[in-house]
Amino acid sequence: MSYDPLITPAVDPSGAPPDTYWRTTCQPTYFASLDGDHQTDFLIIGGGYTGLSAALELTENQSGDVSVIDSHSMGYGCAGRNAGFVLNSSGRLGPLALTKKYGADTARSIQNEYDNAAEQLLRNIDKYHIDCDLTSGPYYKLAHTGKQARVQVDTLKSLSRQFGSQARVLDSKMLQQHLSIQGFYGATVQPGYGLNPLKLVDGLACAAQRSGARLFAKTPALALKQNTTGYTVWTPTGRISAKKVLIASNAYSSKQFHQSINNRQFAVQSSILVTAPLNAGELAGIGLDAPATLMDTRMMKYYYRLLPDNRILFGGRGEVTGKAASAGQARLFNAMTTSFPVLKHKPVSHFWSGWVSVALDSLPRVYFDQKQNLGYAMGYCGAGVSFANFAGRRLAQQAMGMSDLPDIPLYTTALPRYPLARLRRFGLRALYAWARVAERL
Ligand SMILES: Cc1cc2nc3c(=O)[nH]c(=O)nc-3n(C[C@H](O)[C@H](O)[C@H](O)COP(=O)(O)OP(=O)(O)OC[C@H]3O[C@@H](n4cnc5c(N)ncnc54)[C@H](O)[C@@H]3O)c2cc1C
Repeated sequence: MSYDPLITPAVDPSGAPPDTYWRTTCQPTYFASLDGDHQTDFLIIGGGYTGLSAALELTENQSGDVSVIDSHSMGYGCAGRNAGFVLNSSGRLGPLALTKKYGADTARSIQNEYDNAAEQLLRNIDKYHIDCDLTSGPYYKLAHTGKQARVQVDTLKSLSRQFGSQARVLDSKMLQQHLSIQGFYGATVQPGYGLNPLKLVDGLACAAQRSGARLFAKTPALALKQNTTGYTVWTPTGRISAKKVLIASNAYSSKQFHQSINNRQFAVQSSILVTAPLNAGELAGIGLDAPATLMDTRMMKYYYRLLPDNRILFGGRGEVTGKAASAGQARLFNAMTTSFPVLKHKPVSHFWSGWVSVALDSLPRVYFDQKQNLGYAMGYCGAGVSFANFAGRRLAQQAMGMSDLPDIPLYTTALPRYPLARLRRFGLRALYAWARVAERL
């Protein structure tokens, strides 16, 4: 991966799209770049789930002219290259951590938003007729230590009482009856969904265009300045005048893009490998014969999926810098074969990385400044397939002046700035060094 948000000045519009497995499954729709000056009521910067769902919300409410620009192509960022887990969570704080930090009522309201996000995504896939290979199947949360297995049992008691969780606990023996997986001490299991993220983002882009939004690919916002009527945005092929601006560039935002977001997130890499399809013996060897999603309880989580065509998708933390991205493949392969030794000779067909946006306090934000007529949604910490789709709509609702959003810190506070932002990567290296020992990564 060449683009590095903490180093490269901007996403290179001429660069090749990432060589992901998803790109072998569909040819995304072509959108032309901006050609000449352009005026719009709402300008959305970034054509991922956040930006496209914001565009849909604005056009469906007939709020004025809506334009979306992306530096590269729609879905070039995380939206087109993630693992496709549909989660009813975002950020890094689970329901109990939210309760501890914000109290039971606020935690409940935040969790409601995450639950609504997952439900709304499934409804919208249907509503916009998006064929994104949606599969349902068990979602396993694998305990990587005995202590974590005990924590899972206690946590689940509180979760079912306070949050109505439907998960079941499996002890290590029961887990082995479900999966032939090594190195785990138990799990929780609940219903889950997986999808093809690139097909999803392409379907959303087409829906937004049908709904009246103007979409421009290969159109990076190079600079953004306020004027008397709103904003001027400079791109290589034309200037855009907009009354309101919604920043949806997530972790792909360049280093010093605009003061509203500078140093308010940390772009961290996540990497994925996909194997060649498994044969019947290998499927029997891992104990899975139908789509399933799995994630472990490490702080630096590994995540796995059995894809509809019987490939294993295996992901985890990436390398620290964009330049080093490819070095992570061997580490991931090693982790995968530790869990599933039967795959130790399995060829890897694809490997890629992407940047996730990490909030300092692990809580994403959807924040629109009504005085400045500018806002953003980001900080999903690698959990945004469902929530970014919801957050874009919440951001659009704020931009339209709707005032009946839940009164929760997700929407009422800005992303906190990182102190000593220049040292973020030193901190990350130290954290990875700790995790190699403490979490056997
Ligand atoms: C490897 C990986 C695996 C993941 N797996 C999962 C998962 O299984 N489940 C889950 O819930 N989440 C997952 N995530 C996270 C999830 O993909 C993201 O949270 C989500 O896609 C964020 O969507 P977005 O629209 O906010 O941002 P993005 O999809 O990143 O879109 C931002 C867009 O902004 C554009 N852009 C940047 N700067 C500019 C500019 N100046 N001008 C114009 N355009 C600009 C970029 O080109 C990009 O297309 C994963 C992420 C990665 C990297």
